[in-house]
Amino acid sequence: MLELNVWSRRSAFEALWAKPFILEALKDLPEFDTAICPCCGFPTLAERNAFGWCLLCLWEDDGQDDPDADEITGGPNHQYSLSHARANFSKYLSMYSPDDQHCKKLSTATKTELIAEYTSLLGANNKVEAVAACLRINKLLKKLGQQATYPPD
Ligand SMILES: [Zn+2]
Repeated sequence: MLELNVWSRRSAFEALWAKPFILEALKDLPEFDTAICPCCGFPTLAERNAFGWCLLCLWEDDGQDDPDADEITGGPNHQYSLSHARANFSKYLSMYSPDDQHCKKLSTATKTELIAEYTSLLGANNKVEAVAACLRINKLLKKLGQQATYPPD
Protein backbone atom coordinates (compact mmCIF):
# COMPACT_ATOMS: atom_id res chain seq x y z
CA MET A 1 0.00 0.00 0.00
CA LEU A 2 2.84 2.39 0.74
CA GLU A 3 4.21 2.64 -2.76
CA LEU A 4 5.48 6.17 -2.31
CA ASN A 5 7.74 7.61 0.37
CA VAL A 6 6.55 10.52 2.49
CA TRP A 7 8.03 13.19 0.20
CA SER A 8 6.64 11.68 -3.00
CA ARG A 9 3.26 11.30 -1.34
CA ARG A 10 3.30 14.88 -0.17
CA SER A 11 4.17 16.09 -3.71
CA ALA A 12 1.47 13.90 -5.22
CA PHE A 13 -1.21 15.42 -2.97
CA GLU A 14 0.10 18.95 -3.54
CA ALA A 15 -0.14 18.35 -7.29
CA LEU A 16 -3.64 16.94 -6.85
CA TRP A 17 -4.81 20.00 -4.86
CA ALA A 18 -3.81 22.19 -7.80
CA LYS A 19 -6.18 20.43 -10.22
CA PRO A 20 -9.36 22.40 -11.00
CA PHE A 21 -11.73 19.41 -10.56
CA ILE A 22 -10.36 18.81 -7.06
CA LEU A 23 -10.82 22.45 -6.12
CA GLU A 24 -14.43 22.10 -7.27
CA ALA A 25 -14.86 18.89 -5.26
CA LEU A 26 -13.37 20.42 -2.11
CA LYS A 27 -15.79 23.36 -2.28
CA ASP A 28 -18.55 20.85 -1.55
CA LEU A 29 -16.57 19.20 1.24
CA PRO A 30 -15.63 21.88 3.78
CA GLU A 31 -14.94 19.24 6.43
CA PHE A 32 -12.35 17.43 4.30
CA ASP A 33 -8.82 18.02 5.64
CA THR A 34 -6.16 18.94 3.10
CA ALA A 35 -3.12 19.85 5.18
CA ILE A 36 -0.51 17.15 4.77
CA CYS A 37 0.89 15.36 7.82
CA PRO A 38 4.69 15.78 7.92
CA CYS A 39 5.08 12.25 9.27
CA CYS A 40 2.94 10.01 7.05
CA GLY A 41 2.49 12.37 4.08
CA PHE A 42 -1.28 11.93 3.89
CA PRO A 43 -3.69 14.88 4.12
CA THR A 44 -5.10 14.23 7.57
CA LEU A 45 -4.80 17.67 9.16
CA ALA A 46 -7.08 20.71 9.11
CA GLU A 47 -4.03 22.99 9.11
CA ARG A 48 -0.27 22.77 9.65
CA ASN A 49 1.61 23.70 12.83
CA ALA A 50 -1.56 23.78 14.91
CA PHE A 51 -1.01 20.73 17.13
CA GLY A 52 -3.51 18.75 15.10
CA TRP A 53 -3.37 15.01 15.67
CA CYS A 54 -2.99 12.70 12.68
CA LEU A 55 -5.39 9.80 13.06
CA LEU A 56 -3.43 7.69 10.63
CA CYS A 57 0.11 7.77 12.04
CA LEU A 58 -0.64 9.42 15.43
CA TRP A 59 1.92 12.20 14.93
CA GLU A 60 0.95 15.50 16.52
CA ASP A 61 1.86 18.40 14.26
CA ASP A 62 3.96 20.63 16.51
CA GLY A 63 5.56 22.28 13.49
CA GLN A 64 8.55 19.95 13.12
CA ASP A 65 9.42 19.25 9.48
CA ASP A 66 12.32 18.38 7.17
CA PRO A 67 14.81 21.02 8.46
CA ASP A 68 14.77 19.63 12.02
CA ALA A 69 13.48 16.12 11.30
CA ASP A 70 16.24 14.37 13.26
CA GLU A 71 15.67 16.32 16.46
CA ILE A 72 13.77 14.87 19.39
CA THR A 73 11.73 17.81 20.56
CA GLY A 74 9.75 15.90 23.18
CA GLY A 75 6.29 17.18 23.95
CA PRO A 76 3.37 15.50 22.22
CA ASN A 77 5.55 13.17 20.13
CA HIS A 78 7.41 11.82 23.13
CA GLN A 79 10.86 10.37 22.44
CA TYR A 80 10.42 10.23 18.68
CA SER A 81 12.13 12.48 16.15
CA LEU A 82 10.16 13.07 12.97
CA SER A 83 12.65 10.89 11.05
CA HIS A 84 12.18 8.03 13.52
CA ALA A 85 8.40 8.45 13.38
CA ARG A 86 8.43 8.41 9.56
CA ALA A 87 10.51 5.22 9.51
CA ASN A 88 8.13 3.60 11.98
CA PHE A 89 5.10 4.62 9.92
CA SER A 90 6.48 3.04 6.79
CA LYS A 91 6.98 -0.24 8.68
CA TYR A 92 4.12 -0.32 11.19
CA LEU A 93 1.54 2.27 9.97
CA SER A 94 2.14 4.09 13.25
CA MET A 95 4.73 6.65 14.35
CA TYR A 96 5.30 4.48 17.42
CA SER A 97 7.61 1.51 17.67
CA PRO A 98 5.73 -1.80 17.99
CA ASP A 99 6.83 -2.28 21.60
CA ASP A 100 5.29 1.08 22.52
CA GLN A 101 1.83 0.72 24.05
CA HIS A 102 0.53 3.54 21.82
CA CYS A 103 1.33 1.65 18.64
CA LYS A 104 -1.63 -0.68 18.57
CA LYS A 105 -4.32 1.79 19.59
CA LEU A 106 -5.87 1.99 16.15
CA SER A 107 -6.89 -0.80 13.79
CA THR A 108 -4.32 -1.58 11.11
CA ALA A 109 -7.16 -2.91 8.93
CA THR A 110 -8.94 0.46 9.07
CA LYS A 111 -5.67 2.25 8.35
CA THR A 112 -5.03 0.00 5.36
CA GLU A 113 -8.52 0.75 4.05
CA LEU A 114 -7.92 4.46 4.56
CA ILE A 115 -4.62 4.35 2.67
CA ALA A 116 -6.37 2.53 -0.18
CA GLU A 117 -8.97 5.32 -0.32
CA TYR A 118 -6.30 8.02 -0.34
CA THR A 119 -4.66 6.12 -3.19
CA SER A 120 -7.95 6.08 -5.08
CA LEU A 121 -8.28 9.83 -4.46
CA LEU A 122 -4.83 10.33 -6.01
CA GLY A 123 -6.08 8.42 -9.04
CA ALA A 124 -9.38 10.34 -9.35
CA ASN A 125 -9.99 11.73 -12.82
CA ASN A 126 -12.98 13.92 -12.18
CA LYS A 127 -15.02 15.67 -9.51
CA VAL A 128 -17.47 12.78 -9.00
CA GLU A 129 -14.69 10.27 -8.35
CA ALA A 130 -12.90 12.74 -6.06
CA VAL A 131 -15.99 13.52 -3.97
CA ALA A 132 -16.75 9.80 -3.59
CA ALA A 133 -13.20 9.08 -2.39
CA CYS A 134 -13.22 12.07 0.00
CA LEU A 135 -16.49 10.91 1.57
CA ARG A 136 -15.12 7.39 2.06
CA ILE A 137 -11.94 8.89 3.58
CA ASN A 138 -13.91 11.01 6.04
CA LYS A 139 -15.94 7.99 7.10
CA LEU A 140 -12.76 5.99 7.79
CA LEU A 141 -11.13 8.89 9.65
CA LYS A 142 -14.23 9.09 11.83
CA LYS A 143 -13.96 5.35 12.46
CA LEU A 144 -10.30 5.73 13.53
CA GLY A 145 -11.24 8.67 15.73
CA GLN A 146 -13.68 6.43 17.57
CA GLN A 147 -10.97 3.87 18.28
CA ALA A 148 -8.82 6.12 20.43
CA THR A 149 -9.15 8.96 22.81
CA TYR A 150 -6.87 11.92 22.67
CA PRO A 151 -4.38 12.58 24.06
CA PRO A 152 -3.11 9.01 24.06
CA ASP A 153 -2.23 8.09 27.64
ZN1 LIG B 1 0.25 11.27 9.79
